Amino acid sequence: MPRRHRRVPGTPRPVPRPRAAAPPWALLPGYEVRHVAGEKEYRCPGCDHAVRPAVWHLVVVPEDAPEERRHWHTGCWRVELRRRGLGRA
Ligand SMILES: [Zn+2]
Repeated sequence: MPRRHRRVPGTPRPVPRPRAAAPPWALLPGYEVRHVAGEKEYRCPGCDHAVRPAVWHLVVVPEDAPEERRHWHTGCWRVELRRRGLGRA
């Protein structure tokens, strides 16, 4: 089984992706979901705790109600999707 030559030398690097792209599991039809790190503190509707400045989290914006945008901890959004029966992860 001579398969060792398939090994790539050096350290594997993560595939670069745009910073604003939300992970695929987080996407929800009818909503724009973005991955952001802000300078302000927000309140997460999932756990009612603060989303600290500079912490990467998700902004969820209903496409038909942009003023309803909410900042979610990534983990809280995952739980929310599951609660809605939409979780894919
Ligand atoms: Zn939260």
